[in-house]
Amino acid sequence: MTEQALAKREDRMSLEEVKGNVGLIQQVMKEVMHKGEHYGVIPGCGDKPTLLKPGAEKLCTTFRLSPTYDISKTELDRGHREYEIVCTLTHIPTGQVFGQGVGSCSTMESKYRYRDARRKCPECGNESIIKGKAEYGGGWLCWAKKGGCGAKFEEGDPAIEDQDQGKVENPDPADQYNTVLKMAKKRAHVDAVLTVTAASDLFTQDIEDGMNGREDSQPRQAAKPQKDTDTLFEEMVQAKGIGDAMSPYLAEFIRETAETHEKTEEAVKKQALQHKKRFWDGFNTWVKNTASSPGDEAPPVTGADDIPLEDADVPY
Ligand SMILES: [Zn+2]
Repeated sequence: MTEQALAKREDRMSLEEVKGNVGLIQQVMKEVMHKGEHYGVIPGCGDKPTLLKPGAEKLCTTFRLSPTYDISKTELDRGHREYEIVCTLTHIPTGQVFGQGVGSCSTMESKYRYRDARRKCPECGNESIIKGKAEYGGGWLCWAKKGGCGAKFEEGDPAIEDQDQGKVENPDPADQYNTVLKMAKKRAHVDAVLTVTAASDLFTQDIEDGMNGREDSQPRQAAKPQKDTDTLFEEMVQAKGIGDAMSPYLAEFIRETAETHEKTEEAVKKQALQHKKRFWDGFNTWVKNTASSPGDEAPPVTGADDIPLEDADVPY
């Protein structure tokens, strides 16, 4: 199936369908995502593949989600800066907000704050100083093979030996502002996609950034879903295994239903587990009726005609 066909088919998916659809995410992984480009496996980070930026974008296309970003900036001491970004994912066909993710990044993070400094040649400015071999008189040499000028310096020359080496602070944090902003944005986006699609069963967030394109040598298959749909459904109803975006709506629906029908919430949940389809139909109708603004369309409602008669006492 092409990416376009997948996207078209999922055009009318409701939030709960998106969230419950581990199978679809796997299908997307298999058919339109490539290991190393859209997701990667980082050695030492467990079995779950890491969702990379292009993969998060691909899942957004598939589920018709459009990201918007709310950026907060904090100025820190000595020119350092931190960005905190909230990424909101809106379902394009219905205009519903499906959920959010957060990401932050700061120039104080060690990979932006420091650089690996090497001895710099006082003559040409290149970081190409090496220890001169004893048989050539020792001392220090600005090595031509590293782009140096060939200058030689005495053993003990403070112009060479007093230089900071290794981990040194970048002189101007402002050089990193744009990089850090992009990184925070990426983190927020990936977090939002993992939350909204419930794909965190399949993917982990990038632990160490800058892995894009990196391949591991071990062949592996796409991760298998760890839960069957019944378990996922039960967790949704119990509001345990679903993302932040969905829980309040479901909880409110269950609470209202219990109140209206003078049942306990536990009883409603129990019936939901017995009559899944009916439950979702009722929930969809409820979402439609409680939509707050025009254009706030409900997810598609499917007919409940095939519910057997003995289920008629189900309160939704
Ligand atoms: Zn030099």
